[in-house]
Amino acid sequence: MARYTGAVCRLCRRDGMKLFLKGTKCFTDKCPIEKRNFAPGQHGRDRKAKIVGYGLQLREKQKAKRIYFTLEGQFRDYYEKASRRQGVTGELLIQQLECRLDNVAFRLGFATSRRQARQVVRHGHVEVNGRKVNIPSYQVKIGDVIKVRENSAKLPVIEMGRDLASGQPTPSWLEVDHANMTGKLIALPKREEVNLPVNEQLIVELYSK
Ligand code: SF4
Repeated sequence: MARYTGAVCRLCRRDGMKLFLKGTKCFTDKCPIEKRNFAPGQHGRDRKAKIVGYGLQLREKQKAKRIYFTLEGQFRDYYEKASRRQGVTGELLIQQLECRLDNVAFRLGFATSRRQARQVVRHGHVEVNGRKVNIPSYQVKIGDVIKVRENSAKLPVIEMGRDLASGQPTPSWLEVDHANMTGKLIALPKREEVNLPVNEQLIVELYSK
């Protein structure tokens, strides 16, 4: 499947904030947002116009897509599914994004970023309920047990993820055992439990036009 392969730090600079797309680098002073917090490109410094209305809605959607590394078609599918279900569409949209296997693997500390988690899943290092699953968009369900496969636990990228995650609080909707590289989805995430710098209501407004 197609995916964005350009420099990810440009995406943060475009949105003018840290989106934490690069793992450990994001926590150091090498992060370009620390030094060059203006839009990329020749005229990036000059673009100071306040974004409102449609532009703001579009930015929020782009930001969410970038954070979860999804493309337009797939992101729109998540919205369509959310809008057909009962409940708050924005929250249901975030729930689906959070329940992607690559995101859950990242939240459990199997990688230092979602992008890395996507690779970890793609390369077959993760199993769900005892079976290898290498589809990053796989939707994790309540009760599913997610685990790093036995031969993969010593991979440097996975160990780095565990070190980073063990110093941070685990989301309340997940259970994690860092020593055994295992986790479980114990509930669907509520909006207030997801630390995400996105106003999903603007995305809903954009798509429902
Ligand atoms: Fe964004 Fe991380 Fe790059 Fe900083 S280092 S610009 S937070 S991806």
